[in-house]
Amino acid sequence: MAIRAIKGINDILPDVVGKWQLVESVARRIFSKFGYQEIRIPILEKTELFSRSIGESTDIVEKEMYTFPDRNGQLLTLRPEATASVVRAFIQHKLHLQPAMRKFYTMGPMFRHERPQKGRYRQFHQINVEVFAMDDPMVDAEVIYMLLVFLEELKIPRIKLHLNSMGCPDCRLPFRQSLADYLEGVRDKLCSDCQRRRLSNPLRIFDCKVDSCGKLVDKAPVLLNHLCRECEKNFQSVKDHLDSLAVAYTIDPFMVRGLDYYNRTTFEAITPLLGAQDAVGGGGRYDGLMKMLGGPDLPATGFAIGMERLILLLDDKAGALKDSNRLFVACLGEEAKKKGFPLVQQLRLSGLTVEMDYESKSLKAQMRRADKLEATHVLILGDDELAKGVATMRNMEASTQEEIPLEGLVEQLLRRLQ
Ligand code: AMP
Repeated sequence: MAIRAIKGINDILPDVVGKWQLVESVARRIFSKFGYQEIRIPILEKTELFSRSIGESTDIVEKEMYTFPDRNGQLLTLRPEATASVVRAFIQHKLHLQPAMRKFYTMGPMFRHERPQKGRYRQFHQINVEVFAMDDPMVDAEVIYMLLVFLEELKIPRIKLHLNSMGCPDCRLPFRQSLADYLEGVRDKLCSDCQRRRLSNPLRIFDCKVDSCGKLVDKAPVLLNHLCRECEKNFQSVKDHLDSLAVAYTIDPFMVRGLDYYNRTTFEAITPLLGAQDAVGGGGRYDGLMKMLGGPDLPATGFAIGMERLILLLDDKAGALKDSNRLFVACLGEEAKKKGFPLVQQLRLSGLTVEMDYESKSLKAQMRRADKLEATHVLILGDDELAKGVATMRNMEASTQEEIPLEGLVEQLLRRLQ
């Protein structure tokens, strides 16, 4: 039996690759205008990088990581997200000593063993943005603004911004107690995971995917009502800066994001067009992570966008090839083929998009192929033409035909097709 790809791990075929390239190029263009530089990080990391940063009792670490020992018995994990790796690279290369390197973006595949469905896969791709060593609320607002500018540039429809604050350790500690008290009262109704997390990490119940827990969460106390003065002030500042940029948002006190490292402002870009998997991207501040991973005590914020979800939301025509001329060279006979072969290469080097037939098929078969490739022009080289010292050029759209002398052929073709 033929081998198939792993469930939830998909090929990206040439007919949609144009959309991927569009998304990547818009990201590069917009992010660089905001002062971001690309960083490329490995797909494989030591497992403890993720378990320590994302949090031992998160869904990702408990259930979703692809983890295995390598041949030396070292425990490795296919990255489930990028932030931890970018922070690790920043620390490892002492980039805090290079003031020009503060704003980064990266793109690539992530791996989570989730239940595959529309918009949720086991290998998926993210675009990630991370900013280090800046804790002004203006930076939070600018990061959010850049995410929205990017989505608008791609014409992603009906995006809503959800905003929350995860506070700081000072406000989280007393809140944890009131949440734990509430959960104690409903503990028999919690799923088995949440029964356990109730004690170890009660905040995680907010992102439990079990329906019955969802209903209990609706009545739970929320961190937003327990912020300390500093966090309250900081959140107000972020909102004021967003207002100054005319960014609309909805406060969503139940949005806690699925990773433990967040603090203060968190956000998600949501659309109703994706069904259950409605988050296109999300992120927030994670001021304690760099120190927790053994680096300098520097604040940080950022976001991740799911590329598959973006592709699902793109207009059908987005990323389609531009209307440029495409030439097909149809050679009839060995002589013509020998003459056509170097000519095709020369035309490509001159900037034209050119394809030829290598299988010595009939003219009819070659014209059919040219049609399939959506060639705008076909250059026919046959015995008759060679004997006359010409080539026949057919304009496929206009259904017209003309003879062009072989002498000076390249210049003539460039003049017509470029
Ligand atoms: P997260 O890293 O969980 O905050 O996710 C950030 C974004 O990545 C989400 O808003 C989604 O767009 C995307 N994403 C997360 N998990 C998946 C998945 N399993 N399949 C496809 N996209 C995903």
